[in-house]
Amino acid sequence: MANLTRDFFIGLSNSRFLNKSAQKWGFRFGAEKFVAGTDIDSVTRTIREMNARGISCTVDNLGEFVSEKAEAESAKQRILQMLDRIHEENLDCHISVKLTQLGLDIDRAFCLQNMEDILTRAAAYGIFINIDMEDYTHFHATIEVLKTLLETYQNVGTVIQAYLRNAEAVMDELKDVRLRIVKGAYKESETAAFQSKAEIDRNYVKLVKKRLLGEAYTSIATHDHHIIRELEAFIEENQIPHSRFEFQMLYGFRQEMQYELAKKYHFTTYMPFGNDWFGYYMRRLAERPQNVNLIVKDALYT
Ligand code: FAD
Repeated sequence: MANLTRDFFIGLSNSRFLNKSAQKWGFRFGAEKFVAGTDIDSVTRTIREMNARGISCTVDNLGEFVSEKAEAESAKQRILQMLDRIHEENLDCHISVKLTQLGLDIDRAFCLQNMEDILTRAAAYGIFINIDMEDYTHFHATIEVLKTLLETYQNVGTVIQAYLRNAEAVMDELKDVRLRIVKGAYKESETAAFQSKAEIDRNYVKLVKKRLLGEAYTSIATHDHHIIRELEAFIEENQIPHSRFEFQMLYGFRQEMQYELAKKYHFTTYMPFGNDWFGYYMRRLAERPQNVNLIVKDALYT
């Protein structure tokens, strides 16, 4: 049953029609609990609030599946404006981007140019840019684009999804690069990815421990309290310097735990904003079907 629910919401998240339609609906079905606003002004207010509590942010200008150059161009402009805002207001914040929003499915050279424009401005401000990892059909292209960018820029990193069977090999190839380690949010084939929670969790812990023993910066991105406690014990036992890692969680999830972790470690909240909320929100529902009751309440009371 849990797998059916998961597959259902992942299926919805992949619907280009629904993703496009939802942009015109405004927030629905409780999405506003997990999305920090529609525009730069509103997300800036939320970043300031989090910063005041000692929490860094990474903002995601929501959007994926872009198939028109003009759309990718306007996404890039919004990211550049967000960079200017972070710099002007001295916010404790970096940016997460998705390559399919910047034209990866249209033309790789165009996408690369968009990333170079973003990274050049970000480097001038000393701001880090994280490339989120999307579904496996984009995996190799994303890693190739990243490797090209790393020839020129140091302020860029990406995400390793522990459900992928090749995760450790790719992580090792990128051993000097800042990486975020996650379990993985998409539905992938048995050939590409572990399917059982036990295998994914085991690989997650293994990958993070390996990274923590290395030199490069690691973002431990999970809401899983069992894993967090195990990793905290590992950090303590091995005296891992706190300058080498941070914990990350998504905006709207486990708020109390976010505050608690931020008192002990560097902590970053992943903060999506914008009208293109549908795919992101459906993936969150796939992970945690308990959130579906938000949809029901929203449908009944609005
Ligand atoms: P789960 O396996 O979902 O949960 C484990 C256990 O933790 C649950 O059984 C429950 O006991 C507890 N738990 C979890 N959530 C809650 C909650 N809200 N309240 C109470 N208990 C809870 N995925 C990608 O594929 N690409 C990305 O680029 C990417 N970036 C991410 C960035 C960040 C900052 C985070 C946090 C996640 C990102 N993800 C990304 C999503 C990730 O891959 C997982 O799908 C998602 O984090 C769910 O896995 P989990 O590790 O949080 O734990």
